[in-house]
Amino acid sequence: MNVLEERILKDGIVKEGNVLKVDSFLNHQMDIGLFNEMGRIFKERFAEKPINKILTIEASGIGIACIAAQHFQVPVVFAKKSKSINLEGEMYVAEVESFTHKCRNHVIVAQKFLSPDDHVLIIDDFLANGCALQGLIQIVQSAGATVEGIGIAVEKGFQSGGRIIRNLGFQLESLAIIEGMDASTGEIQFSRQ
Ligand code: 5GP
Repeated sequence: MNVLEERILKDGIVKEGNVLKVDSFLNHQMDIGLFNEMGRIFKERFAEKPINKILTIEASGIGIACIAAQHFQVPVVFAKKSKSINLEGEMYVAEVESFTHKCRNHVIVAQKFLSPDDHVLIIDDFLANGCALQGLIQIVQSAGATVEGIGIAVEKGFQSGGRIIRNLGFQLESLAIIEGMDASTGEIQFSRQ
């Protein structure tokens, strides 16, 4: 069991509606020592890839991406969520449905921060149905850049996102994959990777 799995068992709270609350160490208060270890593992898993940029999405991906970026020595770009598209300047835009807030957002990245020369590692906190990731992939592809891989902290393996993204042929590395969780007992099972 890795450090993230141990921490989820210790401090994660299973909520109704297939939501895992991890705001004491990941989504609100952030444990930087833990993020640093996660960044080290991402670097190990993508060691062979010529990554020159990390892309994430606001808000919760940003902290994880920034600490990981210190291991890769590359800049971080975060996609901004926006209800209305203000097309001031040139933007790449994708539409993303929020799993936790059940609403649709546009996510935008300024064109000047992604180009065909970029080899991108996408990082996010959670993978559920894969909507957020598909939006980020679409933005990278609109820029003519290459998705070199995807690093996720917590994948909920019982939802469809992981299967969809792996079927598209991307190297997807999730540090903890939850096989099942139960809001009434608080139990969480991980799949063995
Ligand atoms: P997806 O687009 O894959 O359905 O959902 C991914 C996004 O929804 C993540 O960026 C994350 O912010 C949020 N999310 C999905 N499931 C959970 C969850 O169980 N707990 C928390 N804290 N966030 C989640």
